[in-house]
Amino acid sequence: MAASQTAGDRHRVVVIGSGFGGLFGTKALRRSDVDITMVAKTTHHLFQPLLYQVATGILSEGEIAPPTREILSSQANARVLLGEVTHIDLEARTITSQVLGRETVSPYDSLIVAAGAGQSYFGNDHFAEFAPGMKSIDDALELRGRIFGAFEMAELGAARGENVDHLLTFVVVGAGPTGVEMAGQIAELAHRTLRRDFRSINTRTARVMLVDAAPQVLPPFGAKLGAKTKQELEKLGVEVVLGAMVTDLDERGLEMKYKDGRVERVASVTKIWAAGVQASSLGQTLSEQTGAPLDRAGRIGVNPDLTLPGHPEVFVVGDMIALDHLPGVAQVAIQGAKYAAKEIDGRLKGKPAQAPFRYFDKGSMATISRFRAVAMVGKIQLTGFIAWLMWLAVHLVYITGFKNRVTAVLHWLVSFLGRGRAERTATEQQIFGRNALARLRRGATDLVSAPGEYDAALERERREALEQQAVEEARLTDAGERGVKAGERV
Ligand SMILES: Cc1cc2nc3c(=O)[nH]c(=O)nc-3n(C[C@H](O)[C@H](O)[C@H](O)COP(=O)(O)OP(=O)(O)OC[C@H]3O[C@@H](n4cnc5c(N)ncnc54)[C@H](O)[C@@H]3O)c2cc1C
Repeated sequence: MAASQTAGDRHRVVVIGSGFGGLFGTKALRRSDVDITMVAKTTHHLFQPLLYQVATGILSEGEIAPPTREILSSQANARVLLGEVTHIDLEARTITSQVLGRETVSPYDSLIVAAGAGQSYFGNDHFAEFAPGMKSIDDALELRGRIFGAFEMAELGAARGENVDHLLTFVVVGAGPTGVEMAGQIAELAHRTLRRDFRSINTRTARVMLVDAAPQVLPPFGAKLGAKTKQELEKLGVEVVLGAMVTDLDERGLEMKYKDGRVERVASVTKIWAAGVQASSLGQTLSEQTGAPLDRAGRIGVNPDLTLPGHPEVFVVGDMIALDHLPGVAQVAIQGAKYAAKEIDGRLKGKPAQAPFRYFDKGSMATISRFRAVAMVGKIQLTGFIAWLMWLAVHLVYITGFKNRVTAVLHWLVSFLGRGRAERTATEQQIFGRNALARLRRGATDLVSAPGEYDAALERERREALEQQAVEEARLTDAGERGVKAGERV
C-alpha cells in the first residue's frame, strides 16, 4: 500500500472522478491555496453527450475524451492519479484507490465526490453482455464494432442466400435523448451512409427499432416535443415502439411485453441499452457511514449545500446526488462542482457560507438526425434546423480543447454535408475484448503481476492456467451452456 504524497502543508483537496463534476471542480480551484489530487479510473475526461457519434463512426474517441493530465498540465496545484476508488474512510479522511493490483491511499482535508453513474439493467445485469450501454469509450467502440459488423455479417450471409433479417434489425432500448440519438444515427447509416457500399444486401431495408415502456418519446421534453420527435424518427424510417417493456434479451434477440399482456420476440443481433442509470457504488459506502438515504437509482441524499450529513468537508456532486429532483445532466454536475470549489476556497479565506446550491437550468436538447434536433430553453420549445444549429453551437463550446473543436467540425462537415463517416474502423478487440476480460476472475488484473511479484516460471504457469480456463469457457459456449450454440452461429 502506498500513501500519496502532497507538497507542503497546504489544504489537501481530493477530487474523485474526471467527468464534468471532477474536471470543473478541479479547474475552479486553480487559483486557490490548496493541493488538489484528482483520482479517476480513466485517464481521460469524457464528453458523454457525443458518445453516440463515436459509436456510429462520426467522431474519433480522442475528440470526445482528451487526456485529463493534458487538460490540467498548466494547473500547478493539481495532480492526476489513475485508480478506481474502492473505499472512502470518512473518519480517517482518506480514500483508497486501486489499479492493476496497486493500491494508493490519499488523505484529504476536503473531498469532492463526482463519480457519476453507470448503466442500470433494472436487476437484469446479464443483459449487458448482449446489449452494451452507452456510458464509456469502451461501450461506444464495442457498439461501433457491433453495428458495422452486423452489416458485414449480413453481406456474407446474403451472398450465401441465407435469411439475414436478424442481422439487419437494430434495437435501441430506451427513448430518452441517448436512445433517440442512437436510433436516428443508425437509421442514417442504413439509409444514407452505407447504401452504396454493399452488393448482396440493401442496407435501406434494415429495421431500426426504438423501444420504451413509457408512453412517449423523450418524456422530460413534454408531450408536444415528444410527439414531434417521434414523427421525425418515423420519417427517417425508425420504428418507434412505446408501452413495451423488454423482459428478456439474449445473443439472438429480445422479448417485449406490451401493456395488454401480449409478448413479442424480435430477432436482432445488435441491441443497444440506453435505459436507466445507476449511481456509482461509492454512494453506498458514503450512505453506510453517514446514514444519508439512497434512492432507487443509488443516488445519495445530500444537504442543500451538497455536503454529507455530519461531514461538511465532503461534497457530492453531479449524477450521484438526489436533491430537489435535479436531473442527471452535465450542467448539474458543473454548477455543483463550482459551488463546492467556491465553498472550499471561501472557508480557507474565512468567508461566510454560501446560500444553498441553486441549479440554473440552461435548457435541454437532443439531435434526431443531421439538421434536425429538439430543444427546450425555459418555456421556449424549438424543433428542426434552428434547434440543430443551437445543438451545434453548444457542443462546440463545451468540447474540451481547441484542437478537438477543429477536428470535430471537420468530421461533422464530412458526415452532415457529405455522406461519409470518417471513423468506421473497428477491431476484433473492440467487439470481443471486453467479454474475454469479463471471463477472467479479476479482469485485467489477472493479466499482470502485482508489484514485486514477477516470477517468469510462475507467470508461465499462470498463463497456462488462464489458457485452460479460456478453453473451458469455449467448451461451455459450444455446449450451449453459455452464449451461442455450435452450429447456430450468426
Ligand atoms: C450517452 C449520454 C449522453 C448524454 N447526453 C447529455 C446531454 O446531451 N446533455 C447533458 O447535459 N447531459 C447529458 N448526459 C449526462 C451527463 O453526461 C452527466 O449528467 C454528467 O456526465 C454527470 O457528470 P458527473 O461528473 O456526475 O459524472 P461523469 O461525467 O460520469 O464522471 C464520473 C467520473 O468518475 C469516474 N469514476 C467513476 N467511478 C469511479 C471510481 N470508483 N473511482 C474513480 N473514478 C471513478 C469516471 O471514470 C468519470 O471520470 C449524457 C450522458 C450519457 C451517458
